[in-house]
Amino acid sequence: MSAAQLGERAMVLGSGIAGLLSAAELSSSFAEVRVVERDQEPTHTDPRPGLPQGNHFHALLPGGLDLVNRLFPGFDDSLVERGAVPTVAGRDFYFFQPQGKSYALASYVPEPRDGPIFYVQSRGLLEACIRERVQAIANVHIDYAVSARAPIWESGRVLGVVLEREGRTDEQRAELTVDATGRASRMLSWLPRMGFSTPDEAVIHCDFAYTSAFVRPRDFHAFEGSGFFVLPNPAGRQPLRGSSLIKMEGGLWLCACGGRFGDYPPRTWEEMQLWISESDDPQVAELLRDSEPVRPPAHYRFPTSCRRHYERLGAFPEGLIPIGDAICHYNPLYGQGMSAAARQARQLGELLCARAEESAGLEGLALDFLARAFEETRAPWLFAALSDFQNPLCKGDFPQEEQEAIEMLRFLGSVGRELPEALRLLNRVGALQAPLSELLEPEWIARKNAARDGQSS
Ligand SMILES: Cc1cc2nc3c(=O)[nH]c(=O)nc-3n(C[C@H](O)[C@H](O)[C@H](O)COP(=O)(O)OP(=O)(O)OC[C@H]3O[C@@H](n4cnc5c(N)ncnc54)[C@H](O)[C@@H]3O)c2cc1C
Repeated sequence: MSAAQLGERAMVLGSGIAGLLSAAELSSSFAEVRVVERDQEPTHTDPRPGLPQGNHFHALLPGGLDLVNRLFPGFDDSLVERGAVPTVAGRDFYFFQPQGKSYALASYVPEPRDGPIFYVQSRGLLEACIRERVQAIANVHIDYAVSARAPIWESGRVLGVVLEREGRTDEQRAELTVDATGRASRMLSWLPRMGFSTPDEAVIHCDFAYTSAFVRPRDFHAFEGSGFFVLPNPAGRQPLRGSSLIKMEGGLWLCACGGRFGDYPPRTWEEMQLWISESDDPQVAELLRDSEPVRPPAHYRFPTSCRRHYERLGAFPEGLIPIGDAICHYNPLYGQGMSAAARQARQLGELLCARAEESAGLEGLALDFLARAFEETRAPWLFAALSDFQNPLCKGDFPQEEQEAIEMLRFLGSVGRELPEALRLLNRVGALQAPLSELLEPEWIARKNAARDGQSS
């Protein structure tokens, strides 16, 4: 173990985006990092059983992409080499809103403008490119077809994890165990068994379901840009339905139709075509004519977003932390989960480096990390809540405590046309390139207050 290292071994449970990026971040602070994944080792980029969401569109927002590129220089080149479609945000991806074609999702922006580049590709390709980079790190090892059962709780701390492989259990000792098992996380049952409280949960009943199919089109370039959404039109015949078409690697399109609050899409290709053809906006149905799916469509229902307030707990087991979807999962419509996980993994890496430099060890790491991880949930949770609660059928825990940030978002939106730096800030926070706290820097609060005082005088 070198002086910069904090321990002999770290265990990461789960090899989704949170698990892979955590492993990369941990690799400079531990002599060895072992990742365990319940799925078999993927041999292709098709969706795998442990990741049903892999059948559906996954956009890595610029905030997540920046961090992956920082960890793995040239990462985006490897995506493009394998067929990912480069996309200029604000220009190449658009949204048909009730008002017309918009170049932004959250507001109506009728004119294209140049924003940061991101890439569209299947979740399988994105994950494969990250996995290959992580597997190339000398001290990281990924074990497949192994399930994490429970932490080893001994002498008042977690000392590793009990694993199950082909029906046999086994123990793996580690100074730090990172739970990156996503929504399947068993942390809520582990904590009471170790004598700890479970966290409060905030829940938003966003109730959204979609069916997606990878199709081979007759003409890959039949629509401009790399993809579009037809958003629900509250005044239309089907006010809860939408659809999308997105270009993928390999000359395929990913077609999806979605609905909310009881108006859920069907599951077969034939029914899906019918559903899309009944839409107020005929363009997806027309583009899909003569296209064939390359495998059966996949259906996914997402009833609730959930944020676990681990940061409010006064105590947490030493040697254990949750990360990614295990802490917070967001309505997937807004494409934020992977970038939020990347930002949390970066926080973990920074915290470990600081502790190594200060020879501070691992004591109390969990509470420090959980506070930072919570900060990283604020922007994606707020943006999803602001959009979801526009629909009166949406119920649940609106983040009332973010009133100041909401007022600042309104202010920045209102001055964005005249003040390019206001628009830049809005876009950076919206793309998860900056935390929500950046909206509340004293300079911007002063400007907002001056504008308010000017109005009232
Ligand atoms: C339908 C849908 C669409 C989405 N679209 C987007 C999008 O466009 N953009 C975006 O950024 N995010 C999107 N997300 C969110 C995104 O998938 C997650 O936020 C992101 O992958 C981070 O999740 P994670 O790594 O924490 O967990 P996951 O991705 O769920 O990974 C968990 C991993 O742990 C493994 N595992 C589980 N239990 C065990 C166990 N006991 N032992 C060992 N391994 C285990 C699983 O097999 C899996 O590999 C979407 C989510 C859904 C549901």
